[in-house]
Amino acid sequence: MSAVEERRVHGLRVVIDRDQCVGFGDCVKEAPEGFKLDDETVVVFLDPESVERERLLRACDACPVDAITVWDSEGRQLVPLT
Ligand code: SF4
Repeated sequence: MSAVEERRVHGLRVVIDRDQCVGFGDCVKEAPEGFKLDDETVVVFLDPESVERERLLRACDACPVDAITVWDSEGRQLVPLT
């Protein structure tokens, strides 16, 4: 699996940098339908479309090491907020 995984969800671009993920699972706790830890304890997408937009943003923002970034349709970064 490549280090960077990307999905279009609710008009957002959600990007996981698997090299950054330290596997604490904060994102999984917030949105267990959207993300899971694989057998290397690194996050992968599950079914992020099934997570409502605000909770998906919260889940991505919960990452302590900013391994998940979210961009809107105009290319503005929504998560993490700088
Ligand atoms: S919160 Fe961040 S570090 Fe933790 S599992 Fe999710 S992506 Fe990985």
